[in-house]
Amino acid sequence: MTEPTDDEAHDEAHGGALGSRLNWLRAAVLGANDGIVSTAGLVVGVAGATDDRAALLTAGLAGLLAGSMSMAAGEYVSVSTQRDSEKAALAAEKRELRERPEAELAELAQLLEERGLSSQVAREAAEQLTARDALRAHARVELGIDPDELTDPWHAAWASFLAFTAGALLPLLAIVLPPPDWRVPVTVVSVLASLVLTGWSSARLGAARPGRAVVRNVAGGALAMGVTYAVGTLLGAAGV
Ligand SMILES: [Zn+2]
Repeated sequence: MTEPTDDEAHDEAHGGALGSRLNWLRAAVLGANDGIVSTAGLVVGVAGATDDRAALLTAGLAGLLAGSMSMAAGEYVSVSTQRDSEKAALAAEKRELRERPEAELAELAQLLEERGLSSQVAREAAEQLTARDALRAHARVELGIDPDELTDPWHAAWASFLAFTAGALLPLLAIVLPPPDWRVPVTVVSVLASLVLTGWSSARLGAARPGRAVVRNVAGGALAMGVTYAVGTLLGAAGV
């Protein structure tokens, strides 16, 4: 009688872990994509105005650091806020479990029933889950969170810092390494090629069709570089 619910919890645990790993991977790909596009736009714009390698390196490095730190700070703030509200929800749940355990048991059984269990099985499952770890059961079934696996804001911040930096290094190296005449073509080609890759992988990781995602991603990057290059060229020609 209880075996189906155990199996279900087992499957769900695997699905959840795999899902969150894919989400992290997808976030990393998107962070790298941001680093590629914003740094490419920056260095190609500066290259439109000047041949000076030191200026290109300075602009690219400043863009890399500013971008990666702002991504990390934004991620830290948003994950901290989410974690605070998850902790508050867990504390409220803990209090309710202490103050009115019978109502909480009925609530858990009701939620399990809504997920497709018969009322008798749901009641039995709720009793067993409550006996094992009531707070954990309520956290997962009612709040949809795992109390042992709240996201660490520092991990999230480091992950986005590293992802953005990895992406930003590509256009930075592509613009400073080749001789002057080759800088922009090499950067444009390597950036567009890498945007095919990030667009394709983020679509696949999000279980979407890659074709359109790749076209949109490459078009976005091409537009960013086209606009900044035109502005840089105009400013350079005007002697600014
Ligand atoms: Zn509850």
